[in-house]
Amino acid sequence: MKWTQVEVPTRARTQFLDITGAISKEVAKSGVNTGICYIYVPHTTAGLTINENADPDVARDILAGLARLVPATGDYRHSEGNSDAHIKASLVGFTVNVPVIDGRLALGTWQGIYFCEFDGPRHRHVLVGVIGE
Ligand code: ZN
Repeated sequence: MKWTQVEVPTRARTQFLDITGAISKEVAKSGVNTGICYIYVPHTTAGLTINENADPDVARDILAGLARLVPATGDYRHSEGNSDAHIKASLVGFTVNVPVIDGRLALGTWQGIYFCEFDGPRHRHVLVGVIGE
């Protein structure tokens, strides 16, 4: 299995970027028909999630909900001043795994894979590995 890197330039401090298309291309390139696609974010203030990509308001509402749960300022000690971003990244997590069936990501009809930026804009990347046969 080969790991590939997908570049993810973000444009705002907080942003959900639908990376489903880019990940699908990596699955196609892998030649795997049946297996699993593993996606990993090697950053401490960004994460990954899977959620609805039909109505863009869903991603907007998740970001707004996370902002209410984790305020930008508060009783934080981290000198970099971005503790809210670290906390949000830990809440959403740094990996997602999607089954690969018939050579394609087996996502639900309304599901998309989102890169979750919490301290942008920055030049980010994800690692993608496809295991199977
Ligand atoms: Zn920090």
